[in-house]
Amino acid sequence: MKCFNHSSISALGTCKACGKGLCNYCLTDLEHGLACKDKHEERVKSLELIISQSAKAYADSPKNIFLLPAFLVFMGLIFVSFALFEGKSFVSFPVVMGAGFVFFGVLFFIRMRKVYLSKANKVSHD
Ligand SMILES: [Zn+2]
Ligand SMILES: [Zn+2]
Repeated sequence: MKCFNHSSISALGTCKACGKGLCNYCLTDLEHGLACKDKHEERVKSLELIISQSAKAYADSPKNIFLLPAFLVFMGLIFVSFALFEGKSFVSFPVVMGAGFVFFGVLFFIRMRKVYLSKANKVSHD
């Protein structure tokens, strides 16, 4: 492959923003990728920023997405156990409400897990 700008010089690498082959004179070696000198440097830099930020968001997400469902289930169990401990029947308001909390907590957990797994798959395919 020859340089996009110099047809007689062979390319050393490709710009991460536009994918053109470039020689030593036309390339800028950024921290995580190559770019057209004075042309796509900023674009490749911001591209890298977006990728590293979203990678960080994915890494953080497992804890965050399981926190709320876990809280809902926990609250529900407390409601139910307190109500039953106080001798309330299974169809009393606190027990039904607690069961609802647990139900929505589990539902939420399954939903979030699906979203997380599909995102994780997308990332690994790239
Ligand atoms: Zn470029
Ligand atoms: Zn060149």
